[in-house]
Amino acid sequence: MKFCSECAAPLREMIPEGDNRPRYVCSACDTIHYQNPRVVTGCLVTAGRQVLLCRRAIEPRLGYWTIPAGFMENGETMREGALRETWEEAAAEVEDVALYRLFDIPHINQVYVFFRGELAGGYGIGPESLEVRLFDEQDIPWSELAFPIVTDVLTDYFSDRQGDEYPVRVSKPSPLWAKQTQHKRS
Ligand code: ZN
Repeated sequence: MKFCSECAAPLREMIPEGDNRPRYVCSACDTIHYQNPRVVTGCLVTAGRQVLLCRRAIEPRLGYWTIPAGFMENGETMREGALRETWEEAAAEVEDVALYRLFDIPHINQVYVFFRGELAGGYGIGPESLEVRLFDEQDIPWSELAFPIVTDVLTDYFSDRQGDEYPVRVSKPSPLWAKQTQHKRS
């Protein structure tokens, strides 16, 4: 961030009075431009014993498989965002929606929230997907998953499914995530 979105003057980085960390502050109008983590919301869609995955038609990780997810928009709830992303990527509606996973990813300033829900009706191929498919556990393309977080959510899900209990958990990124690409604004 270099220029003020209010008045277009240059910004400087400084700790405002009463604060304890550097912020971008406008040199002209004194507006403080706070930067805070962004929320990515998604939905693990199940259909009986199968899970729905989308093959990405966009970068990053074009051609790799993922769970419907994306940045939360202003004016919507996390749940609404997850269902919107599911509709946009897979033309799918879900029912019995429940909160499932929260991941803090402080090194990229993001929070991921995943719901899970059962497919209600059919599905299609949204504009951000090349292909949408239901997979049995043994057919999951583990080496072609788009993001480590997808691997984590699916691994947790198949593990939880053995006991038929799906507790909400807060997770941290595993070391495997290191420099792996996550969602970016396209
Ligand atoms: Zn300004």
